[in-house]
Amino acid sequence: MSLAAAFIRVSTGSQDEASQVKVIDAYAHEHGITVVKTFKLKGYSASKGTQEPALRDAIADIQRGDYGTLIVTESSRLDRREDLDAQAEILLAIRSAGGDIISIAEPTFGKSDFAGRIVTLVAQHANAEKSKTVKQTTYRGVMMVRDNNAHHGALPSFWETKGNRYAKQAYCSDPRAIADIYERVAKGESLASVGRAYELYPNSVKNVIRLAANHTGVIECSYTHEGITETWPHTVTPVVDSALWWRANNVLATNVTKDRANKGGRPVARPANWLSGVLDCPGCGGKLYVHAGRTPAGNPRARMLRCGGHNKQRLSCGRFKGCEAQPVVDLIGAMFASDTTEILAFQRVAGNAHELDALKASLSKLQARLSVTEDDDELDAMVAERKAIKALIEEFAIVPDSYDYAPTGQTVAQMWNDGDDTVKRGIVRAVKQTWGLSLTDHDERWGLAIDAVASKGTEGADVVDLGNGLCFRR
Ligand SMILES: [Zn+2]
Repeated sequence: MSLAAAFIRVSTGSQDEASQVKVIDAYAHEHGITVVKTFKLKGYSASKGTQEPALRDAIADIQRGDYGTLIVTESSRLDRREDLDAQAEILLAIRSAGGDIISIAEPTFGKSDFAGRIVTLVAQHANAEKSKTVKQTTYRGVMMVRDNNAHHGALPSFWETKGNRYAKQAYCSDPRAIADIYERVAKGESLASVGRAYELYPNSVKNVIRLAANHTGVIECSYTHEGITETWPHTVTPVVDSALWWRANNVLATNVTKDRANKGGRPVARPANWLSGVLDCPGCGGKLYVHAGRTPAGNPRARMLRCGGHNKQRLSCGRFKGCEAQPVVDLIGAMFASDTTEILAFQRVAGNAHELDALKASLSKLQARLSVTEDDDELDAMVAERKAIKALIEEFAIVPDSYDYAPTGQTVAQMWNDGDDTVKRGIVRAVKQTWGLSLTDHDERWGLAIDAVASKGTEGADVVDLGNGLCFRR
């Protein structure tokens, strides 16, 4: 419940003080507001601004936290002076004390009217001033950085800064790594390969190569304030000689072709097949991917399952030489395409409490209709029906609700045949997780082995959890 004060003003004349009190009391009751104080100003005319001492008292009360709201019947009770400046002024004073005004006759008072817009404007101006001050402070800080010829801005990998806030000195934290990266790139090693050696993304390798300070020993720092850009040189120790820097950067420049330009959009890798990334590599335990595509002549290649290594490194182990994908796809397809095992869903299998609820609902509906029916025959029928329902409710034996997996009417085969790649991958993944599904060598031919997990006799190993409350049992 919130606390408020009522503000009542009756000028000399016919205006009724009691009616204002009544309106405010009714409003407060309706909105759960307790009126803890009532200001009554008799005989004053607001047009002379004589209610100001009372308003000042109210603002002091709000600041103390005695109440948060001032209730008036209409805003003219606060101030009758025609200039809107005065209304905005009062509103502002109360708002800045943390309070608000409710005008019963004008629900949008202080929100969408002219005074309200002014208050909003003033608040916006204050916010703008504040962010201007913050920018100004930042600018002063950066100017101190500039005067010290200190470092400001981002740096690539293997570059760090040391020193205090306004006098940061950039330095290379691993000159040997930088020199090695330049050598590798200059010799034509791919960015991905260099990245693998240093746990970097290919783009981070590129950023290292492109930093001119690696051979010039100067980083050009800059800062833009109110449209004016200031630049200053920051001196560092060079890491590689100019010849090496140019060789490596020339390699990058040669690789810039129009086909490699950033065409925008977020790159999303789409697996070519539901089998991609599901099975484990028999050689290293990494993931197997389906490799497809076309020959230079434009003919489709035979789809192969090949090792794609572990997520970040993405290096084929070389121990598993790969196998044709189609026989494996066919094998798995055959496993599910004619499987009539029912798909189960977690649902209520016993319990009748909902039936009792329905009976009770129909009884109350009947009782409501009984009171409005005039027709005698209809009334008799209703009374009989009521008796019957009451008897049913009395005899009702409640069976507690219990939930279990129950058939959905769908089979594994239906789900497999109707499902898209995502559904198929989901089924294969679930089976792999529960029973184990692996590529095994059968006399120089790759086949599938199941039952690796279930044979260990683990609890619940016979239930394949498909997610979303669905499963199937064997
Ligand atoms: Zn492997």
